[in-house]
Amino acid sequence: MTFPELREALAKCHLTLDDQMMEQYDRYLHLLVEWNEKFNLTSIVLPEEIVEKHFYDCLLASDPAHFPNKQVLDIGSGAGFPGLVWAIAYPSSSFVLLDATQKKCLFLEEVKRALNLSNVTVIHGRAESLSSSLREHFDLVSARAVASLRILLELGAPWLKIGGTFIAMKGPKGEEELEEAHHAIKVLGLGQVEVRKAMLPNEDGIRLNLYLKKERKTEKRYPRSYADVVKKPL
Ligand code: SAH
Repeated sequence: MTFPELREALAKCHLTLDDQMMEQYDRYLHLLVEWNEKFNLTSIVLPEEIVEKHFYDCLLASDPAHFPNKQVLDIGSGAGFPGLVWAIAYPSSSFVLLDATQKKCLFLEEVKRALNLSNVTVIHGRAESLSSSLREHFDLVSARAVASLRILLELGAPWLKIGGTFIAMKGPKGEEELEEAHHAIKVLGLGQVEVRKAMLPNEDGIRLNLYLKKERKTEKRYPRSYADVVKKPL
């Protein structure tokens, strides 16, 4: 997918990207290709694939109606997916990009600086050990390709406000993971779930994006230590 194709496809989904945003995506793409040669940030390396499988995929999962003036936490952002891609398209919202790997955080800081993104904060750390001052703080919490849903929800739900939405970007197994996560959803105070199916072009695959509303406060004992979260998933 080329940049003009990206812009046209998203315009059909009611997301308008202006010229400045397109320049920022172009700069981001170049930095990703350049850094990837040294640091192996992503296995997707061809520019047209980056546009489709990273930029387009992330933007497809974002509903413009969710976004004006929001506080967003992206867990395990990696090279910025989806958080940094969204930060360019939704400048009125603020984004915390969290990752446990330092070199990924250095890359995120570099893109933030080069693109002059004042709505981005990068945190090097782990979701299960975020500061307790951030409990019930965010309107949106997102993650792509970080952990299976029931684990991810325990890592992320405590930081979400009541009325906020957890956005889990999943592939073809999204519905199976949702079945397994029923107990976790209940225990963590999440409720109503929406599943949206999206298709990448060129038969590159089905994406199942999950949107879970937070309805009640999450008990203080969650998240547990990472070892417990993984050993005894909810
Ligand atoms: N979201 C990106 C990266 C996926 S790779 C994408 O879709 O391309 C998973 C990333 O999650 C890695 O960069 C890893 O460092 C980070 N990660 C894994 N567990 C984490 C945790 N508990 N807290 C914060 N980051 C975590």
